[in-house]
Amino acid sequence: MQLFSIFGNPIAHSRSPLMHNSVFKHLNYKACYTRTLLKDSSKLKETFFKLKLSGANVTVPHKEAAFKACDEVRGFAKKIGVVNTLINENGKLIGYNTDADGFLFAIGEFKNIKNILIIGAGGTAKALAIRFLEEEINVSVLNRSTKRLAYFKEFGCKISSWDDFKIASYDLVVNTTSAGLEDDSLPAPKELLEEILNNTRYAADAIYGKVTPFLQLASKHKLTYKDGADMLLGQGVLANELFTNSKLEKEQIKFYMKKSFKL
Ligand code: NDP
Repeated sequence: MQLFSIFGNPIAHSRSPLMHNSVFKHLNYKACYTRTLLKDSSKLKETFFKLKLSGANVTVPHKEAAFKACDEVRGFAKKIGVVNTLINENGKLIGYNTDADGFLFAIGEFKNIKNILIIGAGGTAKALAIRFLEEEINVSVLNRSTKRLAYFKEFGCKISSWDDFKIASYDLVVNTTSAGLEDDSLPAPKELLEEILNNTRYAADAIYGKVTPFLQLASKHKLTYKDGADMLLGQGVLANELFTNSKLEKEQIKFYMKKSFKL
C-alpha cells in the first residue's frame, strides 16, 4: 500500500485527499492519501521520509521551500523554483510543478486572452506568470509589497505594488494571494480592485470552495468568473499521473476526481 499526503498550513480545507482517494478507490489502486499540517518549512523533507510517503503535494506556504528540499527538480518546476508535487524515487526526493498547466486547463473556456493581471507574487503567481509568458500572453503583476516583484520584472512582466499601480486594460485578472482563503479580506484595496474589474473581461481566483470577497466583487461588476476548482482538478490529475507512474488512464483519473467534488 502506497501512502501520499499534502503538506500545508492551513491544511484542513484541502480537498486533495478526497480527490486522490476517489481515484485510488475506484480504480483499485492500492494507495491512501492523507493531509499533514506542516508549520515549519525546513522540516518538509524530514517529515516526508519519516511518514514513508511515496509522493506528496505541497501547498501554501511551502512550495518554494519544497523546491529547495528536493534532490532533483524536473520540468517546468525547475524554471520557476516552485514545487507542488513530490515523488519518492528510490529514496530521492523529486520535485515537479503541475499548478500552471492545471490553471491553463481551467481557463480553457476564456477566449482571446492576451493581457493578464496577476494579483499576488508568491509561488502560484510565479508558476502562472511564467507559463502565460510561454503562451505569449502579456503579464502584469500587482502585489501588496515590493520584495517579491523583482523576480517577475526579470522575466518581462509589468510590475507594481498598490502605491504605484497604473490601470491598463486586461482580458483576465487572477487572484493568486491567500486573501479570502481563511478570512474575508480583499487582495488589494477595494477602490483599486473596482478600477481593475472595470477594465477586464474575466476574473479568476486560485482559491476554491468559496466565493471569495474578490469574486463577490467581480460578480457585482457582472464579470464572467471562476474559482480555483478547475485549477485544483487540473493540477490534481497531473499530480496523480505522477503518483501512479502513468499506470492509470488520464480520462479516468479526471472522471473520478471530478466525482469527488460532488461529495
Ligand atoms: P504564497 O504564500 O507563495 O504567496 C502568497 C501571496 O499572497 C504573496 O504575494 C502575498 O503578498 C500575498 N498575500 C497574502 N495575504 C495577502 C493579503 N491579505 N492581502 C494581499 N496580499 C496577500 O502562496 P501560494 O502562491 O502558494 O498560494 C496562493 C493561493 O493560491 C492560496 O490561497 C492557495 O490556496 C491558492 N492555490 C490554489 C490552487 C488550486 O489548485 N486551486 C493551486 C495553488 C494555489 P506578500 O508578498 O506581500 O507577502
